[in-house]
Amino acid sequence: MTPASLDPAFLAAFRAGTLTEDQADLFLNRDPLEVRFLLLQLSAAIAGSGQPGPHTPSGSVPPYLKPSAKSRSAKVGAQPGHPGHTRPTPTRIDRRETHQLPACPCCHGPLQRTGRTRTRLVEDLPDDLRSEVVEHTIHRDWCPACRKQVEPTVPDALPKCTLGHSAVALAAWLHYGLGTTTRQIVDVFNGHLQLKVSEGGLTEIWHRLAAVLTPWYEQIHRECLAASVLHADETGWRVKGHTWWLWCATTPASTYYWIDDNRGHDSLNQFFAEEFAVVLVTDFWRAYDAFAPRSQKCWAHLLRDVAALDDRPSESRAAFAPPDLANVDFLGSRITTRREPATGL
Ligand SMILES: [Zn+2]
Repeated sequence: MTPASLDPAFLAAFRAGTLTEDQADLFLNRDPLEVRFLLLQLSAAIAGSGQPGPHTPSGSVPPYLKPSAKSRSAKVGAQPGHPGHTRPTPTRIDRRETHQLPACPCCHGPLQRTGRTRTRLVEDLPDDLRSEVVEHTIHRDWCPACRKQVEPTVPDALPKCTLGHSAVALAAWLHYGLGTTTRQIVDVFNGHLQLKVSEGGLTEIWHRLAAVLTPWYEQIHRECLAASVLHADETGWRVKGHTWWLWCATTPASTYYWIDDNRGHDSLNQFFAEEFAVVLVTDFWRAYDAFAPRSQKCWAHLLRDVAALDDRPSESRAAFAPPDLANVDFLGSRITTRREPATGL
């Protein structure tokens, strides 16, 4: 996205008659020559056939061109007073495992064997994807030094979770990795995989998984901020029928995503809340300008914009050229002063 080309969200709002005063102000605050060029572009875009037709598949329509959904009138989930749904207890046990601590996990002292146990059923999908129910017998022994009962942790499942790690990871990957809906995952698990799950149950498990993964997510954030060069970009992302923004910050080793309803530098400020020394490599979207002089504009975008000049009438060429071409000197000076290779530019 360059400052001298139309913001798709602006275009969509203009077409839908939902343009806000802020969007209009942003448009008018530009250089008069740039406004003239954008008006020409706007006119051409509206005359063109950019708008999806009635038979365009939903997946082919950019998120920013989709109309916002009406807000839900009813709350999601069961009505108050309605009996809850818990996973049915498996009716068979395929395998049994026993867990007992060799010593106290706190003081490492010897334990008094009490003979007391509890059992826990975990259902999972091993490598062959045939659901397997494992009954874990967990010994609860007594530490005389700590004066408390201790028991080992079952490594195959999250605490209080009846689904094993493989099933949880598969469901999470299908949903967050591939974009499969929760309803479809329930159908596949309950049908093909013969492993009973519910939409509510999956959502609850994903929240637990998120809590476990958060430290890794935060570590990726820190790694990105500690890098010397960081690439960033953003694209439209639907959240409950509304257009939000998926932001991405990436280095050769780490990629950090976050989703925000804001496409301005407020969202970037959240990411850069901590100290950073990165050189930020981006396109010409204005939100990134707040991070100059520690920023580097993308050569590919600049070259594409320059190439597009040939297709423009000569009068709009003058309006287009100054904002981007003014960066050429800046880019040149960066290249001579950088010690690291400019990856991906
Ligand atoms: Zn102890």
